[in-house]
Amino acid sequence: MSATIYLNGEFMPQDQAMISVMDRGFLFSDSIYEVIPVYRGHLFRGYEHIQRLEHSLAAIHLTLDYNWHKWHTIFQQIIEKNGSGDRLLYIHVTRGASPVRQHILPQKYTPTVFIATTPYIYPTPDDLAHGIKAITVDDTRWARCHIKSTMLLPNNLALTDATHQGVDDAIFIRDGFAMEGTSSNLFIVKNGGIFTPPLSPNILGGITRDLTIELAEQENIPFEKTDISKDQLADADEIWLTSSSKEIRPVLELDGKPVGQGKVGEIWKRLIQAYQVTKQNIADHQPKENILQFPCEFPIKVMGLSNNQFEIAVLSIVKKHFPKLAENALKTRSSKQGKYLALTVTVTANSKAQLDAVYHDLTDCELVVMAL
Ligand code: PMP
Repeated sequence: MSATIYLNGEFMPQDQAMISVMDRGFLFSDSIYEVIPVYRGHLFRGYEHIQRLEHSLAAIHLTLDYNWHKWHTIFQQIIEKNGSGDRLLYIHVTRGASPVRQHILPQKYTPTVFIATTPYIYPTPDDLAHGIKAITVDDTRWARCHIKSTMLLPNNLALTDATHQGVDDAIFIRDGFAMEGTSSNLFIVKNGGIFTPPLSPNILGGITRDLTIELAEQENIPFEKTDISKDQLADADEIWLTSSSKEIRPVLELDGKPVGQGKVGEIWKRLIQAYQVTKQNIADHQPKENILQFPCEFPIKVMGLSNNQFEIAVLSIVKKHFPKLAENALKTRSSKQGKYLALTVTVTANSKAQLDAVYHDLTDCELVVMAL
């Protein structure tokens, strides 16, 4: 049976989903993506992944009227439709189809939003302990690798070259410094301390990287964000590659030579243990239904052009769904030049369906530029 996917507001069997050949994601890689791990049906750091998705969208000037609530509702539905358990969620947003193929970014567009989920068997600590082999390769990617773009050809070519050379992955070297793996961030251990390259346009800010840093701090292991030269990489006691699907994967051979003692290191053992505990706790203590607990105070943020009509329209939509608004429910803020108005209406929400309905009406309102 074909998996159920989400495409532009609808759920459908994957083998019936269609997008236009004029879609700019297809023609120009004018698109960004995210991959979120799901453990036993629970999103792992889902909010952080969506924040990164929003940063990627902003970086390529792609405006999309989805908020966390909307994403989360879709994720829950797609997970339920495909069976719970351990999975990966894939989210892909493009600038949509244009009538003609044109390089310049169109001012008007309807984004394509595609979400799929596949079952995934996460590596156990024992699987991970086998480690992987890697080679170093020149970083031939563009200068904006902090954007999670679907333009992954250099990554895919490097990975394929690595496998042709009988190893598992490649580590990009730019101007003599190690950056990251083809789909993972890089950590090394030297003399008991952990090091990772600082965030820059040359690497992706990995969610697993952030978690690994948190765990290093929690375990009181000396840690530093610093540039790592190719020589320092070759001389490391331990090398790890981190990502949502690889977790913290030790590299035991680099460019044909053993890394450190050629077996997993003591610091890796501590961190992978801590990683597993975090994973278990998140799955146990944050059931997906409880991300919002009802009833709750919920701030609805809406932006539009600064005029009376906008404020009146927003208030009448919100009042339709939440007739009893508190006196101080509305806060307004004007943009610097006064062109836009941001309204925050705090409501007492009794159910997810109630919030869905108000966001549905707000995003349908022509005067609303953005509802968050
Ligand atoms: N760098 C690159 C180039 C990647 O593709 C990935 C995986 N998406 C990562 C780092 C790791 O990111 P995360 O930990 O969020 O999966």
